[in-house]
Amino acid sequence: MRDRPAVAKPVQPDPAVRRILERTELEGVELIRFLYADHGGVIRGKAASRSRLAERLNTGIGHTVAMMAMNMLDQLQEVEHLGPVGEVRIVPDPSTYVPLPHAPGAAAMLSDLRLPDGSPWAACPRTFLKDAIALLAGEGYTLLAAFEPEFTLGRRLPDPSGGPDRLVPLDDSLCYAGHGFDTAHDYTIKLVRALETQGLRVEHYHPELGPGQQELTVRHAPALRAADNHVLYRETVRGVALRMSMWASLAPKPLADQAGNGAHLHLSLWRESRNLFDGDSGGEGAVRDWFVGGLLAHLPALTALTCGSVNSFRRLAPRMWAGAYAVHGPDNREAAVRICSPLGESGEPNLELKPSDSSANPYLALGAVIHAGLDGVRRRLDPGEAVDVDPDTRPGRYPRLPSSLTEALDALEADPVLMEALGPLRASAYLAVKRSEAAAFAARDASYELFQHMRAF
Ligand code: GLU
Ligand code: MG
Repeated sequence: MRDRPAVAKPVQPDPAVRRILERTELEGVELIRFLYADHGGVIRGKAASRSRLAERLNTGIGHTVAMMAMNMLDQLQEVEHLGPVGEVRIVPDPSTYVPLPHAPGAAAMLSDLRLPDGSPWAACPRTFLKDAIALLAGEGYTLLAAFEPEFTLGRRLPDPSGGPDRLVPLDDSLCYAGHGFDTAHDYTIKLVRALETQGLRVEHYHPELGPGQQELTVRHAPALRAADNHVLYRETVRGVALRMSMWASLAPKPLADQAGNGAHLHLSLWRESRNLFDGDSGGEGAVRDWFVGGLLAHLPALTALTCGSVNSFRRLAPRMWAGAYAVHGPDNREAAVRICSPLGESGEPNLELKPSDSSANPYLALGAVIHAGLDGVRRRLDPGEAVDVDPDTRPGRYPRLPSSLTEALDALEADPVLMEALGPLRASAYLAVKRSEAAAFAARDASYELFQHMRAF
């Protein structure tokens, strides 16, 4: 007897997907942005309409492979396998769905770039971080992290002499000054609410050193979530400003003669429920030192990923509290690695990596940090002396970090651990994209560089 044709059973969507579909309906969301961060550090994506969402959650949205060869000036670089032929999918992670308060009617999901058959793609940055987290987990560790971003709030105005648009800061309030809270108040309240709505727990806020400079921090989270959070944070900082006819920039140095915008990276390493960066961590206290040893050993190369733009190196200079020397020290704000004293009972002992800013791709930055730290732990690398002075006051004694993107890229290319971790496709694309940016900005003046970075970040 011949089999009867099978009657297709209705597919039961997984509960996470069903919840998203219900929420878009309930919240009146029409467009769902599938976001990723590229090799230029720019956040990009495509949006699915509500009516196509059920299918797109499964298939992703089609995308050209070439976008991972695009630099922050939208100039496509020649990279083997990332040309006009080839296709990936922007596949959203259902656990990351958030409605966007600064873009009513829209929601966002953080996404992987996958091959059309659904398998991981060798140039996907989020996959790079996931793989690094899995490597850590294989050795029994979990990493918690938080970016501590600063940004400049103001208005984007045309240059009266016909040059590129300029960022004119909101105010000239002093650092931590009460007046600064008021000048930025309407914006910051909206920002806090928008972040909280997206599940980012706001910790602290203050007006910072430079004109219009703000610092608002969110609570730490497991590494992947921390990087996802930073993407949402960057989008929200800029989106809220835009809706208020303002302009916010997280560029490392949007105003050449003013304080830079860091995104210091706070880290703690855990085994089960024990924070191994706590001095008394059940006999594993040395792990923190080795992890720091790994960070410092790889730091010149690491800066190519954590300080990813030409503009980053205006900021990464001595006496800027940006950590321009490859040293560590307890509460030393000129050391690249500051060992932070914990804050109260809920504060966790953590490290702060200062050479880090928001022009980096957060997935690549955090993934590379994991590889560097883990290499230190595996090889039991000695971090050297704890430095308790400003290293810039001891000329020639401490190693200075790269002073340009080109120098940092040279260090990255010469670092076999990070190059192998990136893999050939990602490494060649990243180097091509970043070297093209270095060349493009070397050929132009400072106002062009400042404009392009405040536009992109
Ligand atoms: N703005 C400084 C930077 O670029 C950091 C200042 C601070 O310690 O908060 O990293
Ligand atoms: Mg600060």
